[in-house]
Amino acid sequence: MSFEYPEARLLAGQLDATIKGKKIESYDLKDYEKIHRIGFINRDLDDFKRLVGRTVMGAGSSGNTIRVRLDNGMNLLLAPEYGGVILYHRAGDDAKYHLRIGFTGGDSLTVRLISMGVIYAADDDQLDGVYIYRRDYRGASSPGDLTPERFTELITAKATQLKPLLVGKNAAVSGLSNSAYQDVLYRAGIHPRRKSSELSSNQINALYDAVKALIEERLRQGGKDEILDLFGKKGGYTPVMGPNMKDRLCPRCGAKVERTALGGGQVHYCPGCQI
Ligand SMILES: [Zn+2]
Repeated sequence: MSFEYPEARLLAGQLDATIKGKKIESYDLKDYEKIHRIGFINRDLDDFKRLVGRTVMGAGSSGNTIRVRLDNGMNLLLAPEYGGVILYHRAGDDAKYHLRIGFTGGDSLTVRLISMGVIYAADDDQLDGVYIYRRDYRGASSPGDLTPERFTELITAKATQLKPLLVGKNAAVSGLSNSAYQDVLYRAGIHPRRKSSELSSNQINALYDAVKALIEERLRQGGKDEILDLFGKKGGYTPVMGPNMKDRLCPRCGAKVERTALGGGQVHYCPGCQI
């Protein structure tokens, strides 16, 4: 269910096209006790009061964090990293939510986290104090912005396992999760346990091409098939490798797909053609 770079970009684009220019009239927080306790939302919930009366200036994304900019330097950061639903509603429609933003005229936006993620209201000068903003806007490179040269630099800078370079809080590339990892390693024909120092330049190029191809396909097909867009429509992209391939035969070489526990998640791979 993870929101990765392409899905955050799609949602941010839809938000920008849909709520830009709208004025926020109200907000409501619901069932937030648990996410408040684990720090997924502002410590001081009164921070959300500062959203009211503001006009939406636009929305964008970096890594897998969405930033909705409001007038007078206020922001709403949304990062439903391990699962969540962000929906736009015409007046009268409703959905389960943690945060609901009501616009003048009756339309609304709801945000619900299903697993780890962040909902944060912050002034411009508070943004750098928010972990996901520092990580995705100040730290690692968004995969969509990477050149082959920069990608090679990032991958070869440290001799380490590949997974932490591509996924997780210290990754050199932001906005990819375990789902993308399985997919790009299969596309590139690289074993998921490879270390960066073991890769040939051809393999690094194949990995770069795989990342770019995955992003382009996900963007073209409206995101992963487990993610809903702003209007509740499912994405059309089915991973070429992942849990959906469990116990199936590799379409490329015919070997049976296996899985291994790696970096805090299950990674599916083909033992026949991922070397
Ligand atoms: Zn295979």
